[in-house]
Amino acid sequence: MGDCLTMIQGNKKKIACDAVLRKNETGTWQRIIKSAHLSRPEHYFSIYMSGCNMNCRKCHSHEFTKAASGEWMTTDQIAGLCAEYREQVTVYEPLERALDWYASDLCRCCGYCVITGRRSPTCPGVLEPHQILLSPQGFGPARNIVGYTGGDLGCCVDFYVDLTRKIKTKSPELWILYETNGYGLTSTNLKKLREAGVDSFWLDIKAFDPVIHKKLCGVDNHRILDLPKQVQQFGFQLEVLSLFIPRWVETDQLSKIALLLAEVNREIPFTLLAFFPEYRMMNTRSPNTVEMIESYHAVKKAGLKNVRIGNIGVFAKTETDYELLKRETGIE
Ligand code: SF4
Ligand code: SF4
Repeated sequence: MGDCLTMIQGNKKKIACDAVLRKNETGTWQRIIKSAHLSRPEHYFSIYMSGCNMNCRKCHSHEFTKAASGEWMTTDQIAGLCAEYREQVTVYEPLERALDWYASDLCRCCGYCVITGRRSPTCPGVLEPHQILLSPQGFGPARNIVGYTGGDLGCCVDFYVDLTRKIKTKSPELWILYETNGYGLTSTNLKKLREAGVDSFWLDIKAFDPVIHKKLCGVDNHRILDLPKQVQQFGFQLEVLSLFIPRWVETDQLSKIALLLAEVNREIPFTLLAFFPEYRMMNTRSPNTVEMIESYHAVKKAGLKNVRIGNIGVFAKTETDYELLKRETGIE
């Protein structure tokens, strides 16, 4: 069992699989869905799901992951939304690009090309204006990917299996990317997801140290650290992210996570993200530029070839920070 108590009406709490998941009278799975739309900067259709098997102190979606919030939808209805999205797709990606990682080499969301008719200086120069759409989170293309996001209930795999089958039946051209905390993804569940048609995982490894992981998220990370190997063995595409959280998850743990990934495959894309105060961690500071650079080098030294830094605006506050980051990492 995860740390999944979820607030329901009347200030009561229930375990997540009772609070946000059910089968209707015809035996069809339903889940509470907060929203579903084309997200930026991922440039794919994200389904934000209520309820989660972790209880992260830093959760940025706690309003709907730790409380049942949204609308009950059947897997048929969700697959219907995905089929409507398919009609808007402007970029068809090959399977190996069915990840968030490749979104930014298509478009940086500035909207210049559609507003002014000219590209911005940072535009990758790959897409044409007719491929750029305006969605609730800004400008960009619509890639042929559906992302399962928000709260994660990988422990209740049959819901995801049913949903994936229905999406793939209606819209076989859409890739399915599962954004996961990894909890509950046993090898049996991975096999079921593979057979149903899930294509890729975006795995958030929250800490290497098991004691810290438990304190940070409410559950242990024993199986999660084995996941990269298993995910690759089953043939899914994989990318990984981890946050630098001062005093909780710093360079020592991040380099161990990187080492673990490099032993599986040095090509696994890895995003090093800067933490910012949120939810029950409002008193924890963000990392600074020097700490992020130090971690970046440690992660590269562990052997990973594809490393990027995210949430740069959180720690790089001045021109000097940006210059230092550019000089030390070569990142433009
Ligand atoms: S795994 Fe993600 S959604 Fe779930 S509690 Fe943690 S941060 Fe929130
Ligand atoms: S394709 Fe258009 S919206 Fe995207 S980065 Fe280039 S100019 Fe900006």
